[in-house]
Amino acid sequence: MPRTLDETRAEIHARRAEMAARWEERRPAPFRLTRQVVPGLFQVRTRGSRAYLVVEDTVTVIDTGNPGSGERILAAVREVGKTADDVRHIVITHAHIDHVGGLPVLQKHVPARTAVHLADAPHVASEQPLPNPFVNSFLARLVDPFLQWTDPGPARVDVMLNDADEIPVLGGLRVVHAPGHTDGSIALHFPSRGVLIVGDAMQHKLGRLMLPSRMFSKNLDEAAKSVRKIAALDFETLCFSHFRPILCGADGRVREFARSLDGQRLDEATG
Ligand SMILES: [Zn+2]
Ligand SMILES: [Zn+2]
Repeated sequence: MPRTLDETRAEIHARRAEMAARWEERRPAPFRLTRQVVPGLFQVRTRGSRAYLVVEDTVTVIDTGNPGSGERILAAVREVGKTADDVRHIVITHAHIDHVGGLPVLQKHVPARTAVHLADAPHVASEQPLPNPFVNSFLARLVDPFLQWTDPGPARVDVMLNDADEIPVLGGLRVVHAPGHTDGSIALHFPSRGVLIVGDAMQHKLGRLMLPSRMFSKNLDEAAKSVRKIAALDFETLCFSHFRPILCGADGRVREFARSLDGQRLDEATG
């Protein structure tokens, strides 16, 4: 019997609700910092965003939260049964303070090499404060004193990443340059695990995929191109820095979203 559109929609809603419930079940107890996304990949509650740990014999840290998160990431590493000495790679998705704030402190405690896309690396390494993420000049001026005051200071960059670079963790971690939110934003693809970590290059609000926040993104046209680029990849699970993950069928959702961007005026695309 042919299924009606309503039936299909109801099924999609039910599936999304089930996925959301499954993620809620993994919510860590209040005193815990990590929850497993897939075997070997953990999400970490840092200040202001979510970082990720790739746990094998060694540990790879992806993003480091706002300033004050360095110690918390070290606690998360212990929580998954590893030590600071096991942390060998740090990968930064982009140079916003809520992603690199914990980096200088973390670097003092771990023997890891830090990798940042070459377009954002100078901001991470600079003695100057991080670039103000606000696009609106009035808001940028308003928050600037606070940002100057909380700036984490310079951090070491050991490896400049480029599109399609591969890092030998979890069966091969592929760098996908996804500019728009910042010039050096990257997504991280684990093809053998069917996982993509998108950082801030997309939002996932109320079950809907969206372009990155217009308040904090340099170029939304570029961001839309990056979504189309990501839509060509295969992955089951999609992880964000500020939103709940899509656990199953994520590449199909991104393809659908990329198609919806075609021909759409970008100023209508985001709230
Ligand atoms: Zn950001
Ligand atoms: Zn962020």
